[in-house]
Amino acid sequence: MGVQNFIAVCEPGYKVDAVCSYWARIFLLPKGIISRVDAVCRNYLWSRTDDFHRIPAVAWDTCCLPKDRGGLGILHCHLWNLAVIGKFSWWIAQKKDNLWVKWVHHIYMKQSDWWSYHPSINSSWTWRQICKARDALCSGFSLNGWLNGDYSTHGVYIWLIREHVTVNWMSLVWNRLCLPKVNFICWLYVLNRFMTKERLVRYGVISSYLCDLCGTAQETHSHLFFNCSYSQRCFLLLKQWLAIDWNGDLTMWILSWRCRSLLRKKVTMAALATLIYNIWQNRNTARHEGLVQHLAPVLRWIKASLKGRFLQVKESTRHSSSWIDNLDLA
Ligand SMILES: [Zn+2]
Repeated sequence: MGVQNFIAVCEPGYKVDAVCSYWARIFLLPKGIISRVDAVCRNYLWSRTDDFHRIPAVAWDTCCLPKDRGGLGILHCHLWNLAVIGKFSWWIAQKKDNLWVKWVHHIYMKQSDWWSYHPSINSSWTWRQICKARDALCSGFSLNGWLNGDYSTHGVYIWLIREHVTVNWMSLVWNRLCLPKVNFICWLYVLNRFMTKERLVRYGVISSYLCDLCGTAQETHSHLFFNCSYSQRCFLLLKQWLAIDWNGDLTMWILSWRCRSLLRKKVTMAALATLIYNIWQNRNTARHEGLVQHLAPVLRWIKASLKGRFLQVKESTRHSSSWIDNLDLA
């Protein structure tokens, strides 16, 4: 398969993640192809087209982290390819009984120890890449005892992204009671990556900071979600509906809230995430169309969205809770 063909199947419309996962298992992918695959995936994520030339809200390396480490769980093509190539190292070190390993030992290794072997500059590109992958994975082989059992590409991939610590907000962002678009906006919220006016002014895109929802203050992340009079009225409606209250940081409060009913906590988190989504959408409508949405439809939309998700994921039938039975979802 030529480079052009590979790039052709990676164009938008194909399941690029699956394509990358499949071909990276078979071929050693050159850096140029991996960069192009990443660019196609990145452009599709932020603009649904291949034509995206702005700075993405979140770095691609962060998007490729697992969800419990703050990412979207998208496959990191380079690290996946490295993990796959590592299997060749495992075969060579194990002196696996296959023709390719015998050939490698005969042509390149010539009785050398695999872990201290250096390829000559005349060696093929593929062989040098295999040796480079060995160097990158060397500490993993010695620390994790990969030579003592079967080689797990997935296990090695997870080890390669292990240095990123787990996040405590995964349950807030990736709640099954939220629509996927709400999950995504909530993810941007906890990362503080919205393109607020404060950011746009800093990048030189616009010159006015003024919040379009209240028209009285500069639009920063903390103003939009905590100090804006419009957002505060929205949160007050939600607090009254769900009979909850908090002071200070919303994320800290909901994650540390000791609620006896797991379902109640899940519903509350979903409602808060959906409100954050609504505030951001209403901010965009106010900015681009000059219309500020009334509060009643916001609460109605949150209730309808939660009710719809309840029916879809059948959460209500798996849990019994008088609290949810009494909750006004109409
Ligand atoms: Zn405001």
